Amino acid sequence: MKHKKVTMEHDKKIALVAHDNKKRDLVEWAKFNQGLLAHHRIYATGTTGEILEQELGFEITKLQSGPLGGDQQIGARIADSEIDFLIFFWDPLEPQPHDPDVKALLRMAVVWNIPIACNRASADFMISSPLMDSDYERLVPDYDVYRSRRISGKE
Ligand code: PGA
Repeated sequence: MKHKKVTMEHDKKIALVAHDNKKRDLVEWAKFNQGLLAHHRIYATGTTGEILEQELGFEITKLQSGPLGGDQQIGARIADSEIDFLIFFWDPLEPQPHDPDVKALLRMAVVWNIPIACNRASADFMISSPLMDSDYERLVPDYDVYRSRRISGKE
């Protein structure tokens, strides 16, 4: 498959999401990495964003709470290249009412080849990468081939 390049700029558009049992983990991680996060633009689902704003004093673009559509809003922004980095501490031990949305968000991250960390160790490695502070040419599959696929009844 051919690829297109999407530039991730020095100041990245990072979405932070944590399920309830993982919020404390995410807050600790974000506090520890406050300096590294400071120049990026931060988005979050509603409750995660509120807690992070209180604890960090960051300006955060808060979307809907996850179960009320926040995960889908982040997924839509990934598809529109408005979010290019995802830290998502999802809970592997607790069923979620919005499980299909969680799966859809994880899928969008893969479809658009954005960096995604689902636990603290991955997030530590990603945030300390030298690529965080430079432009990065992200390869995205060229979906024009998919868009122009033959469908019976379509010209
Ligand atoms: P919340 O949503 O930050 O509003 O709790 C997180 C999620 O469940 O996706």
